[in-house]
Amino acid sequence: MTHQPIPDGADRTPAPPKPSSANGTRPGSALLVAHESPALDATGQAVDQDGVQPSIDVNGAYPPVDLDGGQRVVDLDAAERAAADFLAALGIDLDREERRATPARMAHAYAELLAAQPFRLTTFRNDEGYDELVLARAIPFRTLCEHHMLLFSGVAHVGYLPGERILGLSKLARLVEHFAARPQTQERLTMQVAKCLDANLHPRGVGVVMEAEHTCMTQRGVRALGATTVTSALLGGLRTDPRSRAEFFALARVPNPPAG
Ligand code: ZN
Repeated sequence: MTHQPIPDGADRTPAPPKPSSANGTRPGSALLVAHESPALDATGQAVDQDGVQPSIDVNGAYPPVDLDGGQRVVDLDAAERAAADFLAALGIDLDREERRATPARMAHAYAELLAAQPFRLTTFRNDEGYDELVLARAIPFRTLCEHHMLLFSGVAHVGYLPGERILGLSKLARLVEHFAARPQTQERLTMQVAKCLDANLHPRGVGVVMEAEHTCMTQRGVRALGATTVTSALLGGLRTDPRSRAEFFALARVPNPPAG
Protein backbone atom coordinates (compact mmCIF):
# COMPACT_ATOMS: atom_id res chain seq x y z
CA MET A 1 0.00 0.00 0.00
CA THR A 2 1.39 3.35 -0.97
CA HIS A 3 0.07 6.50 0.56
CA GLN A 4 0.12 9.66 -1.43
CA PRO A 5 2.32 12.34 0.10
CA ILE A 6 0.48 14.38 2.65
CA PRO A 7 0.00 18.10 1.77
CA ASP A 8 1.43 19.78 3.61
CA GLY A 9 24.68 28.41 8.32
CA ALA A 10 23.58 31.63 9.45
CA ASP A 11 25.70 34.68 8.73
CA ARG A 12 28.29 35.29 11.38
CA THR A 13 27.22 38.92 11.66
CA PRO A 14 25.03 40.66 12.17
CA ALA A 15 21.73 39.49 10.75
CA PRO A 16 20.27 36.41 12.35
CA PRO A 17 18.82 33.80 10.01
CA LYS A 18 15.23 34.38 9.16
CA PRO A 19 13.06 31.70 10.66
CA SER A 20 11.37 30.90 7.41
CA SER A 21 10.86 27.24 6.74
CA ALA A 22 10.38 24.88 3.86
CA ASN A 23 6.62 24.86 4.01
CA GLY A 24 6.39 28.59 4.42
CA THR A 25 5.30 28.62 8.02
CA ARG A 26 7.05 30.15 10.93
CA PRO A 27 8.39 27.69 13.45
CA GLY A 28 6.36 26.76 16.45
CA SER A 29 7.76 25.75 19.77
CA ALA A 30 9.91 22.74 19.10
CA LEU A 31 9.51 21.62 22.66
CA LEU A 32 5.79 21.61 22.15
CA VAL A 33 6.14 19.78 18.85
CA ALA A 34 7.93 17.00 20.63
CA HIS A 35 5.42 16.59 23.38
CA GLU A 36 3.01 13.73 23.69
CA SER A 37 0.05 15.82 22.66
CA PRO A 38 1.25 18.72 20.58
CA ALA A 39 -1.19 21.44 19.73
CA LEU A 40 -1.93 21.07 16.05
CA ASP A 41 -3.63 23.48 13.70
CA ALA A 42 -5.97 22.42 10.90
CA THR A 43 -3.09 21.26 8.70
CA GLY A 44 -1.49 19.24 11.47
CA GLN A 45 1.25 21.80 11.93
CA ALA A 46 2.32 22.05 15.52
CA VAL A 47 1.59 25.46 16.89
CA ASP A 48 2.96 27.30 19.84
CA GLN A 49 0.11 28.02 22.18
CA ASP A 50 1.51 31.26 23.49
CA GLY A 51 2.90 32.36 20.16
CA VAL A 52 6.50 32.61 21.37
CA GLN A 53 9.05 32.09 18.62
CA PRO A 54 12.38 30.46 19.35
CA SER A 55 14.84 33.11 20.43
CA ILE A 56 18.02 33.69 18.50
CA ASP A 57 21.23 34.16 20.43
CA VAL A 58 23.80 36.90 19.94
CA ASN A 59 25.78 34.85 17.43
CA GLY A 60 22.77 34.41 15.22
CA ALA A 61 22.49 30.76 16.18
CA TYR A 62 19.32 28.97 17.10
CA PRO A 63 19.60 27.49 20.55
CA PRO A 64 19.57 23.69 20.67
CA VAL A 65 16.11 22.26 20.96
CA ASP A 66 15.47 19.88 23.81
CA LEU A 67 13.26 17.01 22.79
CA ASP A 68 12.41 15.68 26.19
CA GLY A 69 9.83 13.07 25.36
CA GLY A 70 6.89 14.79 26.94
CA GLN A 71 5.42 14.61 30.35
CA ARG A 72 4.19 11.03 30.41
CA VAL A 73 3.93 9.60 33.90
CA VAL A 74 4.69 5.89 34.12
CA ASP A 75 3.35 3.85 37.04
CA LEU A 76 5.01 0.47 36.61
CA ASP A 77 3.25 -1.11 39.59
CA ALA A 78 -0.15 -0.17 38.23
CA ALA A 79 0.88 -1.37 34.76
CA GLU A 80 1.98 -4.70 36.23
CA ARG A 81 -1.32 -5.15 38.06
CA ALA A 82 -3.25 -4.24 34.93
CA ALA A 83 -1.17 -6.66 32.84
CA ALA A 84 -1.95 -9.46 35.29
CA ASP A 85 -5.66 -8.66 35.09
CA PHE A 86 -5.49 -8.42 31.31
CA LEU A 87 -3.78 -11.79 30.91
CA ALA A 88 -6.07 -13.44 33.45
CA ALA A 89 -9.08 -12.08 31.58
CA LEU A 90 -7.74 -13.79 28.47
CA GLY A 91 -7.68 -17.07 30.37
CA ILE A 92 -3.91 -17.23 30.74
CA ASP A 93 -2.79 -19.11 33.83
CA LEU A 94 -0.29 -16.94 35.66
CA ASP A 95 0.22 -19.37 38.53
CA ARG A 96 2.74 -21.39 36.59
CA GLU A 97 6.16 -20.58 37.94
CA GLU A 98 7.63 -19.48 34.62
CA ARG A 99 4.79 -16.98 34.15
CA ARG A 100 4.75 -15.39 37.58
CA ALA A 101 6.92 -12.50 36.48
CA THR A 102 5.24 -12.13 33.11
CA PRO A 103 3.00 -9.17 34.08
CA ALA A 104 6.05 -7.30 35.41
CA ARG A 105 8.05 -8.14 32.27
CA MET A 106 5.15 -6.97 30.14
CA ALA A 107 4.90 -3.68 32.01
CA HIS A 108 8.62 -3.08 31.67
CA ALA A 109 8.66 -4.07 28.00
CA TYR A 110 5.89 -1.64 27.07
CA ALA A 111 7.40 1.10 29.20
CA GLU A 112 10.70 0.58 27.38
CA LEU A 113 9.04 0.67 23.97
CA LEU A 114 7.38 3.95 24.89
CA ALA A 115 10.36 5.62 26.57
CA ALA A 116 11.71 8.54 24.56
CA GLN A 117 15.35 9.31 25.21
CA PRO A 118 15.85 13.04 25.63
CA PHE A 119 18.25 14.65 23.22
CA ARG A 120 19.20 18.03 21.87
CA LEU A 121 18.52 18.88 18.28
CA THR A 122 21.62 20.95 17.78
CA THR A 123 22.05 22.75 14.48
CA PHE A 124 25.20 24.25 12.97
CA ARG A 125 25.85 27.11 10.60
CA ASN A 126 26.16 25.91 7.02
CA ASP A 127 29.45 27.74 6.59
CA GLU A 128 30.43 25.88 3.43
CA GLY A 129 27.13 26.68 1.79
CA TYR A 130 26.39 23.01 1.11
CA ASP A 131 23.18 23.05 -0.91
CA GLU A 132 22.68 19.48 -2.11
CA LEU A 133 20.42 16.90 -0.58
CA VAL A 134 21.45 15.45 2.79
CA LEU A 135 19.89 12.03 3.28
CA ALA A 136 20.05 9.42 6.01
CA ARG A 137 18.88 6.15 4.47
CA ALA A 138 17.33 3.09 6.07
CA ILE A 139 17.18 4.33 9.65
CA PRO A 140 15.64 1.38 11.51
CA PHE A 141 12.74 2.12 13.79
CA ARG A 142 10.07 0.29 15.71
CA THR A 143 7.02 1.56 17.47
CA LEU A 144 3.56 0.51 18.60
CA CYS A 145 0.50 0.98 16.45
CA GLU A 146 -1.95 2.95 18.53
CA HIS A 147 -4.91 0.92 17.27
CA HIS A 148 -3.72 -2.45 18.57
CA MET A 149 -0.63 -1.67 20.67
CA LEU A 150 1.22 -4.20 18.52
CA LEU A 151 4.64 -3.55 17.05
CA PHE A 152 5.25 -2.09 13.67
CA SER A 153 8.78 -1.66 12.41
CA GLY A 154 10.74 -0.78 9.35
CA VAL A 155 13.08 1.84 7.98
CA ALA A 156 12.91 5.60 7.55
CA HIS A 157 14.70 7.66 4.92
CA VAL A 158 15.03 11.25 6.09
CA GLY A 159 16.48 14.01 3.95
CA TYR A 160 16.64 17.76 3.66
CA LEU A 161 17.90 20.49 1.37
CA PRO A 162 20.09 22.64 3.62
CA GLY A 163 19.44 26.31 4.09
CA GLU A 164 21.44 28.39 6.54
CA ARG A 165 21.76 25.59 9.07
CA ILE A 166 22.76 21.94 8.99
CA LEU A 167 22.24 19.14 11.47
CA GLY A 168 24.50 16.47 12.91
CA LEU A 169 23.68 13.35 10.89
CA SER A 170 22.98 11.19 13.91
CA LYS A 171 20.21 13.62 14.84
CA LEU A 172 18.10 12.44 11.93
CA ALA A 173 18.04 8.95 13.43
CA ARG A 174 17.44 10.35 16.91
CA LEU A 175 14.51 12.33 15.61
CA VAL A 176 12.88 9.19 14.19
CA GLU A 177 13.57 7.30 17.41
CA HIS A 178 12.11 10.15 19.44
CA PHE A 179 8.77 10.28 17.66
CA ALA A 180 8.58 6.47 17.51
CA ALA A 181 8.59 6.29 21.31
CA ARG A 182 4.83 6.68 21.64
CA PRO A 183 1.77 4.90 20.29
CA GLN A 184 1.69 5.92 16.66
CA THR A 185 0.21 5.68 13.25
CA GLN A 186 2.73 5.49 10.45
CA GLU A 187 1.19 8.50 8.73
CA ARG A 188 1.50 10.70 11.83
CA LEU A 189 5.03 9.49 12.60
CA THR A 190 6.10 10.41 9.07
CA MET A 191 4.60 13.89 9.32
CA GLN A 192 5.95 14.56 12.82
CA VAL A 193 9.52 13.84 11.76
CA ALA A 194 9.14 16.02 8.66
CA LYS A 195 7.50 18.94 10.45
CA CYS A 196 9.87 18.91 13.42
CA LEU A 197 12.83 19.03 11.05
CA ASP A 198 11.21 21.82 9.08
CA ALA A 199 10.29 23.88 12.15
CA ASN A 200 13.70 23.63 13.80
CA LEU A 201 16.18 23.55 10.92
CA HIS A 202 14.36 25.80 8.41
CA PRO A 203 15.75 23.93 5.43
CA ARG A 204 14.75 24.57 1.82
CA GLY A 205 13.04 21.21 1.68
CA VAL A 206 12.31 18.12 3.77
CA GLY A 207 11.58 14.58 2.66
CA VAL A 208 10.64 11.62 4.84
CA VAL A 209 9.73 8.16 3.59
CA MET A 210 8.87 5.30 5.90
CA GLU A 211 8.51 1.66 4.92
CA ALA A 212 7.14 -0.58 7.64
CA GLU A 213 5.56 -3.90 8.38
CA HIS A 214 2.68 -3.81 10.84
CA THR A 215 2.29 -6.96 12.91
CA CYS A 216 -1.39 -6.09 13.42
CA MET A 217 -1.72 -6.62 9.67
CA THR A 218 0.80 -9.40 9.03
CA GLN A 219 0.32 -11.59 12.12
CA ARG A 220 -3.40 -11.26 12.71
CA GLY A 221 -6.51 -10.14 10.84
CA VAL A 222 -5.82 -10.50 7.13
CA ARG A 223 -2.33 -11.97 7.85
CA ALA A 224 -0.90 -10.14 4.88
CA LEU A 225 2.57 -11.59 5.35
CA GLY A 226 5.31 -9.47 3.83
CA ALA A 227 3.01 -6.53 3.16
CA THR A 228 4.83 -3.25 3.56
CA THR A 229 3.21 0.12 4.13
CA VAL A 230 4.95 3.11 2.58
CA THR A 231 4.26 6.68 3.68
CA SER A 232 5.94 9.89 2.63
CA ALA A 233 5.93 13.52 3.62
CA LEU A 234 7.56 16.10 1.38
CA LEU A 235 7.83 19.78 2.24
CA GLY A 236 9.24 22.81 0.45
CA GLY A 237 11.57 22.25 -2.51
CA LEU A 238 11.40 18.48 -2.23
CA ARG A 239 7.67 18.73 -2.77
CA THR A 240 7.52 21.38 -5.45
CA ASP A 241 10.65 20.79 -7.54
CA PRO A 242 10.27 17.62 -9.66
CA ARG A 243 14.05 17.23 -10.07
CA SER A 244 14.76 17.45 -6.31
CA ARG A 245 11.85 15.17 -5.61
CA ALA A 246 13.05 12.56 -8.11
CA GLU A 247 16.58 12.78 -6.72
CA PHE A 248 15.28 12.25 -3.19
CA PHE A 249 13.33 9.13 -4.10
CA ALA A 250 16.22 7.78 -6.19
CA LEU A 251 18.74 8.25 -3.37
CA ALA A 252 16.28 6.83 -0.85
CA ARG A 253 15.92 3.88 -3.26
CA VAL A 254 12.17 3.89 -3.02
CA PRO A 255 11.21 1.67 -5.96
CA ASN A 256 7.76 3.07 -6.75
CA PRO A 257 7.55 6.59 -5.37
CA PRO A 258 4.15 8.23 -5.21
CA ALA A 259 3.40 10.40 -8.25
CA GLY A 260 3.97 14.11 -7.91
ZN1 ZN B 1 -2.66 -1.82 14.28
